[in-house]
Amino acid sequence: MCTNNHCYIVPPHILEELAKRGNTACKKALNDTRRINQKRNESLNHLLQRNVVDGNGARFVYDSKNQYEQRQILIRKEGDEKVADSVVNQAFDTSGFVREYFKETFDLNSMDGNGMDIISNVHYGIDYNNAYWDGDEMTYGDGDGLEFTSFANAIDVVAHELTHGVTQFLANLEYFSQPGALNEHFSDVFATIIKQKYLNQTISEADWLIGDTVVTDSFPGVAIRSMKAPGTANDFDSQPDHMDNYYSGAQDNQGVHINSGIPNKAFYLCCLEIGIEDCALIWFETLSTLWRTAQFNDFLKMMLEVTLKLSEIGRVSERATEAVTKSFAMVGLEENRV
Ligand SMILES: [Zn+2]
Repeated sequence: MCTNNHCYIVPPHILEELAKRGNTACKKALNDTRRINQKRNESLNHLLQRNVVDGNGARFVYDSKNQYEQRQILIRKEGDEKVADSVVNQAFDTSGFVREYFKETFDLNSMDGNGMDIISNVHYGIDYNNAYWDGDEMTYGDGDGLEFTSFANAIDVVAHELTHGVTQFLANLEYFSQPGALNEHFSDVFATIIKQKYLNQTISEADWLIGDTVVTDSFPGVAIRSMKAPGTANDFDSQPDHMDNYYSGAQDNQGVHINSGIPNKAFYLCCLEIGIEDCALIWFETLSTLWRTAQFNDFLKMMLEVTLKLSEIGRVSERATEAVTKSFAMVGLEENRV
């Protein structure tokens, strides 16, 4: 079972399928998932009750030196010049880009709004096939080179994981069932927005993929997920794009990385209607209103309230409420009928 705040970019069911095909690095990554979850459980319980110290989101990048440990050797910190290790520099730069996006766009000071330090660990483990946020820091594997490559230089991976931090502090959506799928959804939404900004792409130029640069040519697919066409990114991509195909099984914490395909598709459709900037504001403001156990219907209800208010004060298009309503209806979500 995944903990509330322990969120991996490569979902367990994909690692399982690759392990079944004989990939030993994926099998090891799965085993390590369980070990890390146990280790982090206790400290996570105290995270949200910690003493808040105001800061400026200072970045610290540590090298795990291929050990399965975090905060081993500090290589680069805020204000330091570039170092020889390009992976360290990439983790430093991409986390800075994400930090600046949230600061400039929403005046959110680091992930918690109080300028918490942004800690990154690179070269974690040997051939480690994942990256994760575990409540107060980021950790990146180098990938085994067979299915996955280094995770630290992928802007969408970094943005996805750091957004789990934002969600944790703004709404603390539990990592299970529909609240968990919403948690995953918000990370994919801001990963996509930030990736397009980073690459200076329009919505028609963008590929709407998550994790396309961390998979190799031999990986059975083009990415980990697709916002535009959920369920098509790889051989094991079982994301639905409509409530008719909602996954109600036990796998993946009751489908946190699976059912997120439904709101993901609605987000894509809404961007086509009113543009990604308006959607970014609507989604961020909606996130601020949600709570730990919020369901899909709560999400839509709050989003419509938020959208109406933003529209009335002219901060988003006057067509925004209609666009949100239409986009969610197209994936089978309608207010009071969810
Ligand atoms: Zn995630």
